[in-house]
This record gives sequence, C-alpha cells and structure tokens, in this order.
Amino acid sequence: METANNQDTRRSKHGQGLSGITNCHPLRGYPVVVAGKGKRNRKWDRETPLGLVRRARRMNRTLATAFPHVYCELDFTNPLELTVATILSAQCTDKRVNLTTPALFREYPTALAYAQADRTELEEMIRPTGFYRNKANSLINLGQQLVTRFDGEVPDKLEDLVTLPGIGRKTANVVLGNAFDIPGITVDTHFGRLVRRWRWTAEEDPVKVEKVVGDLIERKEWTLLSHRVIFHGRRVCHARRPACGVCVLASDCPSFGEGPTDPLEAAALVRGPETEHLLALAGL
Ligand code: SF4
Repeated sequence: METANNQDTRRSKHGQGLSGITNCHPLRGYPVVVAGKGKRNRKWDRETPLGLVRRARRMNRTLATAFPHVYCELDFTNPLELTVATILSAQCTDKRVNLTTPALFREYPTALAYAQADRTELEEMIRPTGFYRNKANSLINLGQQLVTRFDGEVPDKLEDLVTLPGIGRKTANVVLGNAFDIPGITVDTHFGRLVRRWRWTAEEDPVKVEKVVGDLIERKEWTLLSHRVIFHGRRVCHARRPACGVCVLASDCPSFGEGPTDPLEAAALVRGPETEHLLALAGL
C-alpha cells in the first residue's frame, strides 16, 4: 500500500515542494497546497461554481441560526444619525461611537446644524472617536452638501451617497441597508477576512469582494448576511486564533484548523452576548 511518505517522495522527485503553495485553483486562482492538510484541501480545490453557491448559501443559513438577532451595532434613529455615526466609526469601535453620539445628535439634529457648526466645538464633541479634525471636516462638508444638493435629506441611492464627503461604498451600503432597508453588502475588514477564509473569493479589493458575494447570495439577504458575517468575525472567527473547535461553520469552512480545534480551548475564545447560545450549538 502506498503511504503518504511515498507520495510525498514522488512529488519531490518531480520538483514540487513537500509543503506550501505549488499550484493554482484552475477556476478561482486559489493557491493549492499539496501537503499538510492534503485531503481537506483537495476537497475544496475540486469545488464547482455551483457547489460554491450552494455552500455559501448554506453557510448564510447556518449563520442565521447562530445569530438570529443581528442588527447594526451603531445607535441611530434616522438616516442622518446613521450616516454621521458611520463616519465617526472609522478607526474607532462602535461602542465608543455610541458613547459619543447621544450628546452630538442632541446638539446637531439636522444637516443644517452640521453645515453651520462651530468647528472647534464639533471637534471637541467627537474627539474621543479619534481623527477628530478630519471627521469634523467631513461632517461640516456633509451638512453643507446635503443642504445645497439634497434639501437637507440623506439620499437613498448608492450613486448619490458616494458623492458625499466622508462616505465611501462601505458607509453607503451601511446606510442603505440599515436606514432605508435597501439590500447592501458591507465589506469591512471582518467581512473581507472571513469570505477569503471561506474561499468565497480570493479578491482583496472590497468592491470586487462585494460583486463576488453579491453573485453568490440572494439579494434580499445582503444586509442580514453582512451583519451575520461581521458578528461571526467579532465573536468567533477572530483574525488571530479563530475559535474553530466550537464554530457552527466548521464542516463548510476550508480554513477549519486555523485556530484551536479543541472545543474547550476554542470555547474560551468566543466573545459577546451570544456566547452561551453559540456554545450550546456546539454541544457545550
Ligand atoms: S472553522 Fe475556524 S476559520 Fe472557519 S469560520 Fe469557523 S472559526 Fe473561522
């Protein structure tokens, strides 16, 4: 019977390394690893485009059971507040933004209020969110543009939103999905990291990631999918040491094993209010 060692020896005679990247997936340009997690990798390398669609949608359904109550973690009551909170959330935690915005929203309830803001006072209010000078600039310019071009209202079209100061595609999709109920895919750092781990795409460019994921997942699911993926990234699938041993996606994830696979070790890595529910799903 041929052993794994024999196979490795044969490969090395043909000039291929025993570990690491030696080839590319013919369809999606993924690196193919020929040794180490061989069997498991071969399974994903053979996945067809239809198989990927089915797996991606199954993973979305699994995430829905893990996180049945997803929501935008920024506090807001109208499109303007969400737009402002999203601008402030750049390089800052949602928690810190939520501590800052109640007083800010009271002081600046309209686009006109931002347009006419005293710069020093505004900077002082948003200082805890970091980069406060740039952010104050964005908010004042945003207020002015909303007043002059959109009657003081936040527009509900992606092409209009991205022309506003401080609003890129990511912010625009957050606003569309959460303030206007128009499906949008929010590609932040968590989302990009996870979909690449899952081999939904190998793209690094957020716009390309958005396009690929948009082709995989039903449009009506886009906003909820974005929340679920971001929740999973924050609570389970961390950049360093993902909690693979208790992950609901383990059987569908090509990167299973990137973090501890021992359930007890992995359980200690889970964060957030859903921890008990997530561990129960893992049988703990
Ligand atoms: S199995 Fe591990 S790498 Fe894959 S999604 Fe779960 S935590 Fe992330």
